[in-house]
Amino acid sequence: MTRLDLLVRGGVVVTPCDISIGDIAVSHGQIVEVSPEIAGTAREEIDARGLHVLPGAVDVHVHFNEPGRTDWEGWATGSAACAVGGTTTVAEMPLNAHPPTLDGPSFDAKRKAAEASSRVDFALWGGLTPVNLERMEELAERGAAGFKAFMSSSGIDDFPAADDATLFAGMRRAAALGLPVAVHAENDALTKALAAASVAAGQIIARDYLASRPAIAEIEAIARAILLAEETGCALHVVHVSTGRGVAQIAAARARGVDVTAETCPHYLLFDEDDLQRLGAIAKCAPPLRPRCEVDQLWQALVRGNIQIIASDHSPAPARMKSGDDFFRIWGGISGCQSLLTSLLSAGHIEREIPLPSLASLIADGPASRFRMATKGRIAPGYDADLVLVDLGETFALRDHDLQYRHKQSPFAGMTFTSRPRRTILRGQTVAIDGTVVGMPCGHLLTPALPVPVPLPAPE
Ligand SMILES: [Zn+2]
Repeated sequence: MTRLDLLVRGGVVVTPCDISIGDIAVSHGQIVEVSPEIAGTAREEIDARGLHVLPGAVDVHVHFNEPGRTDWEGWATGSAACAVGGTTTVAEMPLNAHPPTLDGPSFDAKRKAAEASSRVDFALWGGLTPVNLERMEELAERGAAGFKAFMSSSGIDDFPAADDATLFAGMRRAAALGLPVAVHAENDALTKALAAASVAAGQIIARDYLASRPAIAEIEAIARAILLAEETGCALHVVHVSTGRGVAQIAAARARGVDVTAETCPHYLLFDEDDLQRLGAIAKCAPPLRPRCEVDQLWQALVRGNIQIIASDHSPAPARMKSGDDFFRIWGGISGCQSLLTSLLSAGHIEREIPLPSLASLIADGPASRFRMATKGRIAPGYDADLVLVDLGETFALRDHDLQYRHKQSPFAGMTFTSRPRRTILRGQTVAIDGTVVGMPCGHLLTPALPVPVPLPAPE
């Protein structure tokens, strides 16, 4: 028998259907056994007694902005924040890097940047815009996780919004390529007109910005995206859903067999529109923070199982772009990848008693399964040894200087959480301990696994 590389002993292990104290054996970066007590020794043993062992989070919505806008974040700092926070895999969005990931060469350039600096494994989204429909195949060939489209302005000139014709054509192509389309769902005409009228009237404070992006803009766009996906047979993923009615439409579509998933983010679960008034520019995002009743509906939907994925939508920008009085000019994006796991455990498990396997599904198994990351998201034999050891009893304040981000600003900084990530392990190697990264960058590109073939029925 070959000697084990790693034994994680005595932690409370969270598997998809169970929580129990046990040991985890790792060989060549993969989990080979999970059981109450594993005999023998390993090259490295980690005492996890008193800690919970969860699958490393799979954050399928981050913007690291490299190459081209590394001054906004970059793979080194973004992935360090993930490692420290307990995230072991990211799927990185095609925009805010320059050039945006719209064709083969831009995908290759981003892959190179990530391989040089990423401390976590990564998948890369390609874009779906009016200017790159002919290049989708190039992206698929290289292993893109799927295609991201904006139904309203992206805020980035070189990543134009997908009008209905683009979305229809792009979904047909994505369906043929066997890849999902992810949409930022807000009605472009409505948000543009409301914003223009508000600015023209000199109404530019937080409340005016909120009024320019009403819930109906999201609800209408989700309904339209679902219709197009149903018509084209394309798998649809709706990113950062912020309203109860938005989630309800996705749930209804799923119930009639449409292949659609809902993602929400910690900022829609932990903050409401009053927090935007209190926190100011740092908490501006699109869709915006919502009234408390929407926040409550999101939690209810989550408990009912109508939300499949929670991701951070980490979308940083330099401090000069996250300040000022004109809410229509401030960059819309929240830095949150480092606090993804701890915020969800704290607000979801400690405060609301949502079972740990359900939360693990939302941030690890759910996203990994949806985007066909075959070896990610579970603590089970055959899966990568991507683990996070968490002290569920420890309460701590997240401070600005704890943040690994290039720009140490986040609406989550200054908050107190219960559930502190103590150690993060990627493919059997420790990549972070107690808020500090360890070792060298070693992130690998993940490409979607082939769909599992459906076996033909045996002949009579
Ligand atoms: Zn985003």
